[in-house]
Amino acid sequence: MSEIILKGIPAAPGIVIGKAYIFGKEELDVEKVMISEEQIPLEISRFEDALIQTRQEIIVLQKKIAQEMGTEHGEVFDAHLLVLEDRMLIEEVISKVKREKQCIEFIFSEVLKHYAGVFSKIEDEYLKERISDINDVGRRILRNLLGKKRKVLSDLEEKVIVVAHDLSPSDTATMHKNRVIGFVTDIGGKTSHTAIMAKSLEIPAVVGLEIGTVQIKSGDKIIVDGSSGLVIVAPDPETLKKYEAQGEKMRGWTETFVSMKTLSAQTLDGKLVSLAANIEFPEEIPTVIDHGADGVGLYRTEYFYMNRRDLPTEEEQFEAYKNLAKSFSDKSVIIRTMDLGGDKFISQFDFPKEMSPFMGWRAIRFCLARPDIFKTQLRAILRASVFGNLKVMFPMISGIEELRKAKILLEEARMELRQKNISYSDKLDVGVMIEVPSAALTCDILSREVSFFSIGTNDLIQYSLAVDRTNEKIAYLYEPTHPAVLRLVKTVIEAGHKSNIWVGMCGEMASEPALVILLLGLGLDEFSMPSASILEIKNVIRNISCAQAKEIADEALTLTTGIEVENFLSRKLKELLPAIYGI
Ligand code: PEP
Ligand code: MG
Repeated sequence: MSEIILKGIPAAPGIVIGKAYIFGKEELDVEKVMISEEQIPLEISRFEDALIQTRQEIIVLQKKIAQEMGTEHGEVFDAHLLVLEDRMLIEEVISKVKREKQCIEFIFSEVLKHYAGVFSKIEDEYLKERISDINDVGRRILRNLLGKKRKVLSDLEEKVIVVAHDLSPSDTATMHKNRVIGFVTDIGGKTSHTAIMAKSLEIPAVVGLEIGTVQIKSGDKIIVDGSSGLVIVAPDPETLKKYEAQGEKMRGWTETFVSMKTLSAQTLDGKLVSLAANIEFPEEIPTVIDHGADGVGLYRTEYFYMNRRDLPTEEEQFEAYKNLAKSFSDKSVIIRTMDLGGDKFISQFDFPKEMSPFMGWRAIRFCLARPDIFKTQLRAILRASVFGNLKVMFPMISGIEELRKAKILLEEARMELRQKNISYSDKLDVGVMIEVPSAALTCDILSREVSFFSIGTNDLIQYSLAVDRTNEKIAYLYEPTHPAVLRLVKTVIEAGHKSNIWVGMCGEMASEPALVILLLGLGLDEFSMPSASILEIKNVIRNISCAQAKEIADEALTLTTGIEVENFLSRKLKELLPAIYGI
């Protein structure tokens, strides 16, 4: 068999070579067996036993995950427990057994299939998430009815690269770091829950491969290049050699990078920039510190609201933000207020089905419509700001009016605390994310009313180029180096500096070594990224001068296509650091 190269979307960087393990294709064969009238109560009681057994399994799993990875990861299972209490589903199974007199396994699997069929026709991301919960739990119940043991990723006996159509949050959360050395999925984009988890676990991963589970078989040797999004099946000896060398080189770099930990991110001509971390869960704090970050440039607080039954209280949020503030003492921690909607939904709230959710009721728009939920978060942030150097940042601001409304609510939150004699810090810097083209184009106006900008290129690119960031089919059009993006970024940095405020970037673009040269040349002050990228980027910064970077940026701005810019910058990176990026 000659090698097959599959192109997906890079989800978590690194190269890994290993044996593929197809996960999630296990068929649970269910035979149709007719039963007598007298057997009906017995079948129903078998069903009830299976429900109880499944419930116990999930609770044990939830506790284990919460202990190993933190309570938030464990909360993923709350949705699964809810499925077990779904009266409609249970009643439907019981009445069907009574009516059709067939064994419970068969009836149950038919009901599951029916649900899957109905849900798959609905184009709603939230409901799609629900069907994966129902399927996940349904298979557990079926396994218990059939007396089969569930295959879990934490039970793996050897190191493998997991290949799956999709990975449910519960599957991903049970990945044993030492055994799952990488993974690939057919669907999903860079910002899927799975991709985010892979980055926190530092497992190389590629998503959106489309046909991975068709082209790859269990036991196949595969290479996963999580940095470029390539998966190579049955690699030729030459390819294998190339990637082994690349892997070896990367391990070598890791040593170079580790030596960067205690050094500052300073260019050859003395400009100090800040390298901060993007986090999704407070449990990532030790990793962030371990990678020598200058603080947190983006805390995606919406994860606080996801995978749970209730809304987080002010007290609960206060404790989490306080802990964060204390962990970083004088280092800056930017709390981004909840960015719900788009592709991130919560079960506690009935989000409407929208044709274009990314351009719909999300982030600050949702917050302004629900000041009760928003102000609870703002009060928690204000209170926690006493304990460290917190800053607050609003997502999806499209113009000055939204910013002003958000600031009024922040002021109201302050007043409410004052009335109750609850202490808060007066020194809470307010910033906005520049991720909507209208904000980028009016940033001179916005810059007068905030303390900082953070450019959210993940969204800014999708809106300015009209390319859905989660759609694997048009991922080739998603170009951070497109001249339009470059011009917007330049405009924002210049406007910020003109108003004497600092400008950061927390989109993925800030963690790409070649693009960092350009951004440095454009004058970016803070680069915020997944912690695993920090030392590599520090190495780039420490090996270039601002003057050099500016010259490169000026030339990049004269080019006419995204590809030209990309090639030009990667050539410059290779010239700059040939030992790492090759010549
Ligand atoms: C962005 O849009 O660039 C960003 C950092 O926010 P998120 O990825 O959470 O939308
Ligand atoms: Mg965004």
